[in-house]
Amino acid sequence: MASRAKWVVGNWKMHGSLADNAGLLESIAAAPASGARIGVCVPFPYLVQARDVLLSSSVAWGVQDLSMYPKGAYTGEVSAQMAVEFGATLAIVGHSERRTYHREADDVVAQKTLRALEAAITPIVCVGETLEEREAGSTEQVVGRQLDAVLAVLDAQQAERILVAYEPVWAIGTGKSASAAEAQAVHAFLRERLRAKSAALDAVTILYGGSVKPGNATELFGMPDIDGGLIGGASLVADDFLAICRAA
Ligand code: PEP
Repeated sequence: MASRAKWVVGNWKMHGSLADNAGLLESIAAAPASGARIGVCVPFPYLVQARDVLLSSSVAWGVQDLSMYPKGAYTGEVSAQMAVEFGATLAIVGHSERRTYHREADDVVAQKTLRALEAAITPIVCVGETLEEREAGSTEQVVGRQLDAVLAVLDAQQAERILVAYEPVWAIGTGKSASAAEAQAVHAFLRERLRAKSAALDAVTILYGGSVKPGNATELFGMPDIDGGLIGGASLVADDFLAICRAA
């Protein structure tokens, strides 16, 4: 089995203030290194603050979205290159909140993934089914389609540089995580899908996201195909986030 990088990445969503972020970032920066790489994806205005606090630490920082275009007349958009100027090395793409509230289709997510890679940013490609889709038995069809749309635009080397995050929509922010067995089953499916594209993609890190807490992280991260987590709510509380990082 390929050795895969473990990652725990916080997704702050639209939370924070300069004052609140300061303590959180300082606690994360000061935490002793664990087996997993740690990152935080912050709102764009806080990139400078994240860079200033995290620069001398081993913690990576990044963004929660970026434009599908490299530059141009796209009011309100932020390009991958702009994020790089602030030291961003991570970008979440295709989060279900972007897919749902901003109607981001699979081909848009694929283009965003490409823009990130071109800028030497590691994209965290999110896939996940809604409750309705799960109950209809179409989980694999949905996450397979979402992943394939991204893989279709990447060459072999680019595909090796992505992270994938399985985030069942029904588990995000609901307090109801997928069970470790449910998550493992989808991760194993995604792993196989990656391998079908190229044996080298066995090394792609697949994170689980959806109501990960200190109390369920160890069991989730103990599964063979779960390589860490993408953490929403619990990433805003330093003690919780650090406990989750230690579990990975
Ligand atoms: C997320 O939004 O990426 C997420 C996993 O959220 P939460 O941990 O709050 O469910």
